Amino acid sequence: MKAVLFEKFQEAPKLSTVDDPTPAPHGVVLKVAATGVCRSDWHGWMGHDSDIDLPHVPGHELAGVVEAVGKDVKNWKVGDKVTVPFICGCGSCSECHSGNQQVCLHQEQPGFTHWGSFAEYVPIHQADLNLVALPETMDFATAASLGCRFATSFRAVIDQGKVSAGQWVAVHGCGGVGLSAVMIAAAAGANVIGVDLDPAKLTVAKDLGAVATINGRETDVPAAIREVTKGGAHVSLDALGHPVTMTNSILCLRPRGKHVQVGLMLGDHAAPAIPMPKIVGQEIELLGSHGMQAHRYGAMLEMVASGRLDPSRLVGQQITLAEAPQALMDMDKFQSVGATVITRF
Ligand SMILES: [Zn+2]
Ligand SMILES: [Zn+2]
Repeated sequence: MKAVLFEKFQEAPKLSTVDDPTPAPHGVVLKVAATGVCRSDWHGWMGHDSDIDLPHVPGHELAGVVEAVGKDVKNWKVGDKVTVPFICGCGSCSECHSGNQQVCLHQEQPGFTHWGSFAEYVPIHQADLNLVALPETMDFATAASLGCRFATSFRAVIDQGKVSAGQWVAVHGCGGVGLSAVMIAAAAGANVIGVDLDPAKLTVAKDLGAVATINGRETDVPAAIREVTKGGAHVSLDALGHPVTMTNSILCLRPRGKHVQVGLMLGDHAAPAIPMPKIVGQEIELLGSHGMQAHRYGAMLEMVASGRLDPSRLVGQQITLAEAPQALMDMDKFQSVGATVITRF
């Protein structure tokens, strides 16, 4: 099959021909129909993720069709249209038993712990636990975002942030995760403030339901949010993963507010300085959020089916597999409005 492969970290990936994967007894092989290019792929390529063995094929935001089924798989057949959370549970650890496959102790991540979906085919483990059926009406480019960004935001806003109607929610960083969070928090009835440095992204945030936007280049972000909200946000998300956005997110909260860290902080940013006096003195909650387990997709897909969420609005450029190496390497320099998705292989 064709796949985008890198032999060394930070060296240009190449479109290569590699062996086709075969399914594990409990797994499937999917024919990839769409796969997003995500900042996490860039982190992996930079060498920030210790799970990755070289050579490596990235790609974890995928949707496709079941191509081959392992002998122990009960619930899936060739031809089923599916996506998968980028964190796949093992099915046997205490976290999986409690329904929290997103923090499985033996988790597998396509594109990190094994070869991913920048390829014609990708193997997925523990298919009965991890696959999610897609509605017939959903196009694959939209569905690809459900594997990572959109689902990650759904968990961060709904399950971790527990956002409710009338709350003020600040979203720092309006890339794929941030814009998804704006849409989801607005659908939950919150008053959402979008923060970014790029006016074009702030315009999209407004279109997706933000009641206010703040350009971080022009103003003191926490002060501006405290002014708009008359005291601070109830819930704030760092959707980028940077010391500046993380700090702004904590400092913009009202007493007893919740900070949800969604953007990954790796490499030089792995141990940021946290404004601890405010955390203690104002009883701020610090929460991590890490993907979303397969059994929670139903709630999100119901909101998509009813029209309250429309992830198709977040699909940006559609590219070919041959264009993927450049798109991956550019991920930290230039983030386009909407997700870049590989849809031609
Ligand atoms: Zn991702
Ligand atoms: Zn597990």
